[in-house]
Amino acid sequence: MNLYIYNTLTNKKEQFVPHNHGEVNMYVCGPTVYSEPHIGNARAALVGDLFFRILSELFDNVTYIRNLTDVDDKIIIESDKLGVDINTLTEDITRVYQANMLKLNMLKPTHEPKVTENIDNIIDTIQKILNNKSAYVADSHVVFDMESFSQYGSLSNKKSEDLIDGARIKPEPYKRNPKDFVLWKPSSHKSCGWDSPWGYGRPGWHIECTSMIKSIIGNDATLDIHGGGNDLIFPHHENEIAQGSCCSSSDYCNYWFHNGIVLVDKKKMSKSLGNVISVSDILEKENPIIVRIALMSAHYRQPLNWTQDTMNNSRNIYEKIISSLDIESSTTTERDDKFIDFLVRFEYT
Ligand SMILES: [Zn+2]
Repeated sequence: MNLYIYNTLTNKKEQFVPHNHGEVNMYVCGPTVYSEPHIGNARAALVGDLFFRILSELFDNVTYIRNLTDVDDKIIIESDKLGVDINTLTEDITRVYQANMLKLNMLKPTHEPKVTENIDNIIDTIQKILNNKSAYVADSHVVFDMESFSQYGSLSNKKSEDLIDGARIKPEPYKRNPKDFVLWKPSSHKSCGWDSPWGYGRPGWHIECTSMIKSIIGNDATLDIHGGGNDLIFPHHENEIAQGSCCSSSDYCNYWFHNGIVLVDKKKMSKSLGNVISVSDILEKENPIIVRIALMSAHYRQPLNWTQDTMNNSRNIYEKIISSLDIESSTTTERDDKFIDFLVRFEYT
C-alpha cells in the first residue's frame, strides 16, 4: 500500500518514499515546557501519533522523535514570575505533558530528547556551521549569516527580508544584518547557561531542534518527515532548514507536514483572553478517547475550532462507533485499544 503525504515543501500531496528502504525517521516539534499543556499541544502530538501509527503499519523500522524544549526565554520568564527553580518547573511540566499524552492514548515516541541533555551536541552543530562559514561570532553571540544561504524560504515561500517585517527580529548591534538569527547567546542565569567556546550562554531555539535531530539520525543523514504546528513554518522551520543545510552535506528533510491551529470559539488561545483549555482540566471531566475524537474532529491541516458542542459531538460519535463495533462488553482497556485501532485504520483508508 502506498502512503501519500501533503508535503508543505512542494505544496502538494506526494507518494511517501523513505530515504532508506524500509526505514523511516520522523521528527515532530514538541512543547516548550513552561506551562500546563493545552489542547493545541495535544493536537500537534496527536497528529504526530497518527503519522507514527500509520508509518509503523507500513514500514518495518520507524523512528519517531518528539522533543521537549526545556531551554527557552519563556521558561526563564515563567520561573522568575513563579519564584520556582527552572529545573523544577520544566520537570513538573514535562511529567504532566507525558502523563497527559499517555492518557490520550498516544504511543511513546522512540526518542524524546531534551535540550538540557544535548548541549554538547548543540555546541558541536554550531561549530560545524561556523566551520562552514555560515555563522559568525560577535559579542559572545554566535549568529547565523543569512547571506550564506541563498535558498532560504523554500518551505514558506517567504524571503529572509520578511524576517524583519512585523518586528519579528530586532536589529541588534552584534548582528551584521538584522535578518541574521542567533544560534548561541550569553546567559546571566546561573540555572540556565553552559560553558561554550563563545562564553557562558545558552542556545537559541531553532538550533535546538536541528541539533537534536542530527544527534539521533546522524549529521549526514536526511530526515524523512518533519512535522509541527503550522505557526512554526516561518521562521522556525525555515531556520532549521538553513542550519541543517549548513552543518551537513545532505538535504535536511524530504517531507514536511503541518497541523492547523486550535481556536476556542474562533479565537486564538491566550492567557490574556483567559480561554486556554488545559489538557489536565479536560481529562479530569472527560473520557480520554472522547477528547481524542474531539481533537480529530477537523482535518489535521485545517484549524480546529473548539466550542461548547465539540465534546458533545465527540461523545455522540463515540457512542455510535462503540455500538457499531459491538465491543460494549469488552473491558475498558480492550475497548479503548480496539477503538484506537479502528480510528487509525479509518484515518488512512
Ligand atoms: Zn522545533
